Amino acid sequence: MKIVRTKSELGQIIGQEKAIGKKIGFVPTMGALHAGHLSLIEVAQKRSDFVVCSIFVNPTQFNDPLDLEKYPRPVERDIQLLESGSCALLFLPGVEEMYGPQEIWNFDLGQLEEIFEGAMRPGHFQGVTQIVYKLFNAVDPDIVFFGQKDLQQCKVIEYMIRQFDMPIKLIICPIIREEEGLAMSSRNIRLSPEGRRHALALSRSLHLTFEAFKEGRQLVELERSAIEYLRASPGIELEYFAIVDAFELEKVDRFDDKGQYVALVAAWVNGIRLLDNMFLN
Ligand code: AMP
Repeated sequence: MKIVRTKSELGQIIGQEKAIGKKIGFVPTMGALHAGHLSLIEVAQKRSDFVVCSIFVNPTQFNDPLDLEKYPRPVERDIQLLESGSCALLFLPGVEEMYGPQEIWNFDLGQLEEIFEGAMRPGHFQGVTQIVYKLFNAVDPDIVFFGQKDLQQCKVIEYMIRQFDMPIKLIICPIIREEEGLAMSSRNIRLSPEGRRHALALSRSLHLTFEAFKEGRQLVELERSAIEYLRASPGIELEYFAIVDAFELEKVDRFDDKGQYVALVAAWVNGIRLLDNMFLN
């Protein structure tokens, strides 16, 4: 695996690969890699000819400075993990490679910035689109791979690709979970053993909702039971639980036969903010 730290080196290698007809697959990450990230790389390997992964802890998407400071950065371990997989090139830039001294970014995301993660983390999706736009420019990928774990982020990136008419295909990859159901996340490293146990309530609430949906129960009832379950679960400080339309993430009043639905949950556990979601059909 090649490791490059500058956009110009990256551009040269990508140019050579493209010149011989290779399709570039790209997996952007913030590092502290786990099996979820590696699954994206495996999918990218199947769907493209040259897989690029980036590791960059993007300061502009953190609305909490403490969260940025505490974000895990085990770079040596990440490199070892990538070496054992199908990644051809790792782009590992420093902050000064990606940002000038005073940059302004203001991208109208409409409704997407006012709901769920947009509402709870002001400015987060501005930072996400700012860095992903720069990374797309630097890598010039044909196909990009994002995790369903951050479903609203996928919607935001899809929207950006459409708005800027970028010739990029986005593939959403399934959530990889730990054995007991907890969605893998770089932040899980910071959970205490007790926090980890408490955190299982998130995926359980989604499973219970999934089962109840199959039994034909009503949307309002499903939301109410999940919220009650989460509020009664020790160690969980619930931010939101909602069942929404799976495409636009818009609230719906009731299920209809043609709709597709997803349950979204966000909560604080042990001082760490965790996210999860599950498609119901
Ligand atoms: P991050 O390093 O957290 O920015 O994540 C990089 C990419 O990995 C994003 O597209 C995430 O949605 C994806 N990802 C994170 N956790 C998981 C998971 N448990 N399963 C699948 N993809 C994931």
